[in-house]
Order: sequence, then C-alpha cells, then structure tokens
Amino acid sequence: MVRRLVERLRFEREDVIAPDAPMNRTLLARTGAWLFLGGGALVLLVLVLPHDQRVSEVGLLAVSAGCFAAALLVLVRFDSLPMAGFEVLAAYASALATAARLFAEEGAESGTGIQALYLWIVLYASFFFARRRALLQVAWIAVLYAAVLANDAGSSATVTLWTVTVGGLLVAALVIGALRERVLNLIARLADAARTDPLTGLLNRRGFDELFTSELRRSRRTQRPFSLVIGDLDCFKQVNDRHGHPAGDRALRRAASVLQDDNRASDAAARLGGEEFAVIVPETDARGAHVLAERLRRGIADAFAADDPPLTISFGVVSFPKHGRTHEQLLERADEAMYAAKRLGRNRSLVHTARMLDDPQRPVQ
Ligand code: GH3
Ligand code: MG
Ligand code: MG
Repeated sequence: MVRRLVERLRFEREDVIAPDAPMNRTLLARTGAWLFLGGGALVLLVLVLPHDQRVSEVGLLAVSAGCFAAALLVLVRFDSLPMAGFEVLAAYASALATAARLFAEEGAESGTGIQALYLWIVLYASFFFARRRALLQVAWIAVLYAAVLANDAGSSATVTLWTVTVGGLLVAALVIGALRERVLNLIARLADAARTDPLTGLLNRRGFDELFTSELRRSRRTQRPFSLVIGDLDCFKQVNDRHGHPAGDRALRRAASVLQDDNRASDAAARLGGEEFAVIVPETDARGAHVLAERLRRGIADAFAADDPPLTISFGVVSFPKHGRTHEQLLERADEAMYAAKRLGRNRSLVHTARMLDDPQRPVQ
C-alpha cells in the first residue's frame, strides 16, 4: 500500500498535458502531492532552524500535519478526485499558508518570509486551473493576507507589503496562465496535425482509427447502428501515368473535397492511404449508408466527367452490428464489398453480403 502511494509520486514521461481533457489528472495530482509534502517539510524546517521565541511551535506543527494529511489524501484518492476537489485543496493550502504566517510571525520582530508559500499555490493554480479559477485563488489569498496583516496592526508598511505581495502573485498568475494557454494551443495543434492527411486535409489513418474505435464503442453502448463506407478510386494509376504524379495529387485533393463537401457535418471522411478513402457514418444503417455512398459516387463521377480519364470510385459499405462487431471484421468486410464492386466493373457502391464471397462474378444486388 505505502509502496503504491510512493510510486504515485514519481513523474513519468507520459505526464503530458492533454488537449482533450482540461488537464492531465495524474500530473495534477502528482504535482499537488509534491507541493503539500514540500510545504509540510518547509514549515517543519522553520521549527528546526533558529527562530524567535514567540513562534507558536504547536501551531506550526499543526500546519505541517495539515499539509501532510492533504498530500496523503491526494495520493490515496489519486485518480478519483474531481477537478473541483483540487480547487478546494488549493484554497485549503492558502488557508494553511496563512496559518503558518500567523504562527511563525505573530508578535515576532523579524519575518520568516513564509508567505512565499502563496507563490507555490498561485503557480500551481494558474498552470492547472482555468484562468478565472486561478484568479479566484489569488483573490482568496488577497483576502487571507489582508486579514493576517490587519492582525499584525501597528506596522506602517502593512499596506505596501500587501500591495506588493498580491500584485506580485497576480503578475505570476497572468504570466503562467498565458504560458498555459500557449502550451495547450500548441498541443492541440500538434494533435490535430498528427490526425490530418497533409495532402487532402482529411483525417489520416490514425485519425480514422481513433474515430472508428470511439464510434464503435458508442454504438456498442447505445445499441445503435453506424456504418462504414470504404472507397478506392478506379484506374487511378492512369492519371499518374498520363499526366504525372503532381496531377495525380491534384486529382486526389479534388476527390477529397467532393467526399468532404457532399457529407453531413457528422460524417467524417478520411484518406486511408494512396487513393483509398473512408467515411464513418454515425447513427445510420447499411441502407442509409448505401444512399450516401451512391451520392458520393455520383459526386465524384460528375466532378471528373470532363477529365481524361474520367475518374470514378468504387465503394464498399458495411454497418455495425450487421456485418461485424469489431474494428477488424468491419474493415475486412468493407474491403471485400469494395473489391466486389471493382470486380463487377467499378464505379458502383455495394453493401456487403455473404454471397459476394461465394461467386465473385455473380451480381450481388
Ligand atoms: P483500381 O481501379 O483497381 O483501384 O486501379 P488503380 O489504378 O486505382 O489501382 P492501383 O492500386 O493499381 O494504383 C493505385 C495508384 O495510386 C498507384 C500509385 O501510384 C497511386 N498513388 C498512391 N498514392 C498516391 C499519391 O499520394 N499521389 C499520387 N499522385 N498517386 C498515388
Ligand atoms: Mg484504385
Ligand atoms: Mg488502391
């Protein structure tokens, strides 16, 4: 048990900030646990180092225990603590830092600088929380620190001290917040690029696989159908052979834009590689997907009617759960249907049937 908790403190290379989740929970919890442990240790250090007689040792011990207890809570509830829980913990940390400041300096002649703990909290909050939530934490600290300084009374530098401290924390929050925005933005762009085919702008194979997997999961959960349409351009090699590879690339881009434009917004088109495309059609059975495939097929035929050679496309259509329940099964069946369409003379869309495997030459529809 203890070993498992200690292992949770170890930072991993995979601890990255995720663009889809607001923040990586593991990194959030791990950093929080470390800060509470560090805060607890720092308060203990004040007790160990030479200090003013009037310092409340019991009070500081209690603050330190409060820090270690929070660290333990974070480590035990590691994955199950909601985001709001971390925000409450940050507010609690500010209360602890304020208590530490009270106990360490009440009536003492020299300061310990223990309010530097506020900066830890602000750095943490502005990196991990949304901007407004982070600023709320700064406001909470401003209130607490004002209360503590009011309690000091008599010092003429109080207002200056509050203003400089809170002003400094605010600037730190804004700078780290801006950094956080940039990091999230960059990660979102990189993640987007990793899923996009650079030639056509459609989803690439990786983007397709991810979407297909999540669609499959959703359909399994809801017991609703979804369909997959796979298409391969007919005799595409001739375009390259007659007009060169750059002309082939232009044709691929035009075909992709037909597949994308003639879709519902919810249908996602992908380029699986070469001149092979796929469309994921949510909430639709094979009959509905066949209608869509026919519309796309006519769209391609019309767009390339005046070309030499006039490009066409052959589609294979399958749906979950009718034609398969797994990623591999569905892709394999869609491929079979598409190759059957090729065998029957190309420029057509076929829904998969068991018969198309028996006799490749026999019409299947
Ligand atoms: P079929 O009707 O049987 O599909 O015939 P096809 O000529 O389309 O099929 P084949 O697989 O023989 O040829 C596919 C061609 O697609 C071969 C390859 O040069 C071309 N190709 C694959 N990727 C690209 C690409 O990114 N750009 C260009 N210009 N051509 C590509
Ligand atoms: Mg082809
Ligand atoms: Mg091909």
